[in-house]
Amino acid sequence: MLQVFNCVDRHLEKNGDDVALIWEKDEPGTEEFITYRQLSEMVNKMSNVLKRHGVGKGDPVAIYLPTTPMAVAAMLACARIGAIHNVVFAGFSAGSLSDRIKNAKAETVITADEGIRGGKKIPLKAVVDDAVKLSGCVKRVFVYRRTKRDVPMTDVDFDLEKEMESESIECKPEEMNSEDYLFMLYTSGSTGKPKGLAHSTAGYLLYAGMTQKHVFDYKQGERFGCVADIGWITGHSYVVYGPLFNGGTTVLFESTPVYPDPGRYWEMVERLKLQHIYLAPTALRMLLKEGKSWVTKYDRSTLRKLGCVGEPLNREAFDWYNVVVGDRKADVVDTWWQTETGGITISPRPSEEGAEILPAMPMRPFFGIKPALVDKNGVELQGNNVMGALCINSCWPGMARTIYGDHQRFIDTYFKPFKGYYFSGDGAVRDKQGYYRITGRMDDVLNVSGHRLGTAEIEDVIGVHVISGVASSSSDFRDFRSLLEQLVPPLGAYVISGIASFSSDFKEFMSLLEQLVPTQV
Ligand code: AMP
Repeated sequence: MLQVFNCVDRHLEKNGDDVALIWEKDEPGTEEFITYRQLSEMVNKMSNVLKRHGVGKGDPVAIYLPTTPMAVAAMLACARIGAIHNVVFAGFSAGSLSDRIKNAKAETVITADEGIRGGKKIPLKAVVDDAVKLSGCVKRVFVYRRTKRDVPMTDVDFDLEKEMESESIECKPEEMNSEDYLFMLYTSGSTGKPKGLAHSTAGYLLYAGMTQKHVFDYKQGERFGCVADIGWITGHSYVVYGPLFNGGTTVLFESTPVYPDPGRYWEMVERLKLQHIYLAPTALRMLLKEGKSWVTKYDRSTLRKLGCVGEPLNREAFDWYNVVVGDRKADVVDTWWQTETGGITISPRPSEEGAEILPAMPMRPFFGIKPALVDKNGVELQGNNVMGALCINSCWPGMARTIYGDHQRFIDTYFKPFKGYYFSGDGAVRDKQGYYRITGRMDDVLNVSGHRLGTAEIEDVIGVHVISGVASSSSDFRDFRSLLEQLVPPLGAYVISGIASFSSDFKEFMSLLEQLVPTQV
């Protein structure tokens, strides 16, 4: 309830006609604007639908939707009635979706007929049909008509918009305790079993809002373009909760960085007059290979902050972002954080006005974050010029509260390795000036386009024993590409579309898979 009140209701009286969402649909130039009032009506109608079907406080709801206003409304509708949303990236296979549904014991799924990305249709409802069969616990599926394709409907399926039509635009929000769970979001662990990290109602929202405001110096009226999918934590915190908490205008980017061409981001910046863009270093590295002209032909003078997250931002990509994209006039903010931290924990901003920003490092802890570098014996390293396991040595509002259904695993994973500290799984350097630079994962987790994939998850998918030495600590698409090149052909195995969709190097990745994988992509 707190979320919806803070993200929608409280803006209605004075700012109800302000634009809350800019839906940047797959086809450039077809954007739609949704005001706070319109968003409120969608949320309340959907809340009433869910309630009418028996969904209530504490119930997990799986959301398998593309980045659309309906997805935002679905998240906020769950928050309004106290249900716990579990957004699953709408690119994961039926197997991965059903694992997440089963693990959360979700009886309700909200999906769409199809998604559309880079001009290609993605059969979401068909994936959900298979996942429903595999999971055995789903009682109802609400289907949003994104492309209006005629998809087969079963006994458990309901047309979401038809259901919403007759509902009232008023719905009394459920009262929640600050520590009740708002959502869970799965991320990969090195053992392969995904972890459903649960975030709290009050602390998470406060942290998402504070960080969006201060890291980006966000001012109401500005347009915030975080291009992440809502299926990831970045989409939760900086597409939905942070900007809406601050009464802002947020972009829902449904496409890819190369559709219809590598100028897509910058054409969008010009057309929508964005002040902020927040993206992944992999996308930058791919785009810089395409040359400057895709950037310079568009007007980027509105941009004030250039954010990135997901992987180390190497020197070349930093310089390109700073010089070519930003004309040296916008701050480049390399933000380090994780699904577990809920929001940005290390970032060059906020800092004193004009304070230096150095390349290839997130530099400074956010308010209240106390990073600690710890050696393999668990001893905290003092002073500067040291390298160790990156830990945080006290609590902060946005930290995950548990692994849903497995609190012991939460303790074992994050608090046992170094007694008295939260352990992030990453390594870092504190340089001679006291700034932090991330060295990468210390476990067997692949970071593909800024999203963690456990090696065991990949083994499952490819059906092969992946030598962890090959797979570990890869932070670059090229590593992943060569891994696939080695593994896929001898096996004739197939790779699920979920993995294919992770990569922002989408075209290159898909054509590689198409060459390698004869059966199914
Ligand atoms: P996820 O929780 O899936 O968003 O992935 C978080 C992981 O991405 C972190 O543990 C890091 O390994 C990596 N990561 C995120 N941001 C950065 C950054 N700015 N620099 C280096 N690595 C990052």
